[in-house]
Amino acid sequence: MIIVLLGPPGSGKGTQAKRLISEVKWPQLSTGDMLRSAIGAGSQLGKEAKSFMDRGALVPDSVVVQLIADRTRNEDCRAGFVLDGFPRTLPQAEALDQMLATRGRGIDHAVLFDVPDADLLERLTGRRTCAKCGAMYHLQAAQPKKQGICDQCGSALIQREDDRAEVIKKRLEVYHAQTSPLIEYYKKQEKLKTVNATQAPDLVFQAFKKILY
Ligand code: AMP
Repeated sequence: MIIVLLGPPGSGKGTQAKRLISEVKWPQLSTGDMLRSAIGAGSQLGKEAKSFMDRGALVPDSVVVQLIADRTRNEDCRAGFVLDGFPRTLPQAEALDQMLATRGRGIDHAVLFDVPDADLLERLTGRRTCAKCGAMYHLQAAQPKKQGICDQCGSALIQREDDRAEVIKKRLEVYHAQTSPLIEYYKKQEKLKTVNATQAPDLVFQAFKKILY
C-alpha cells in the first residue's frame, strides 16, 4: 500500500506515521528527515537545503522528487511505503504519480490530518524533537519522562530551528499557498480521506487505521 500523508506542519502526521510503521512493515519516508540528515552529514545537498529550511521555505521540487525517486527503489519499499511531508506542491504530486505509473504502481490513499491554524502555533512552538532518533515531544502535551531527554534513546531534545514562532508563520503561509491545493488534487482522484486531527493522538490513530485496514 502506498499512502500519502497530508496536513499542515504540526498536524501530527509524522507522529501518526511513526505509530503506523510500528505496526506494519512499510517504511516511513519523510523528506524533512532525509533533508535534516543530509544537513547533519554536511553534504552539498544538505548545505543547499538548509538555507531554504531555516527560513521556512520549500526546497526545490527537483531535489525532493529525486530523493523520493531514489529512496523508493529500495527493496524495503516493495510492499508499500508511507510518504510523510511529500508531496508538498502540485508539481511534486504530478511527478510522484508519473514516477509510480512508470513502475506500474499508484497511490492508494491520501490522508489529510485536519487541524485549524489557531491550534498549530501552540503545538509547534512547544514541540521538542530528539536530535538523534527524531522522536517528538511537547512541553505540555507530551512530556518526556526526564526533562530534555528522549525516552527512546536517551539523547538530548532540541527545538528545531524552523519551530521558532517567526518561521512557523512562514511555514503555515507556504502550506496554504503551495500544499493545500493537493487536497483538491487528491479529491479529484477520489483518494482523499480526512481525519479530525484535533482529537487525542490515540483517537486520531484509530481513525487513521480505520481508513487503511
Ligand atoms: P518537515 O519536517 O516535513 O516539516 O520539513 C521541514 C522542512 O523541510 C520544510 O519546511 C521544507 O523546507 C523542507 N521540506 C521537507 N519536505 C519537503 C518537500 N516535499 N518539498 C520541499 N521542501 C520540503
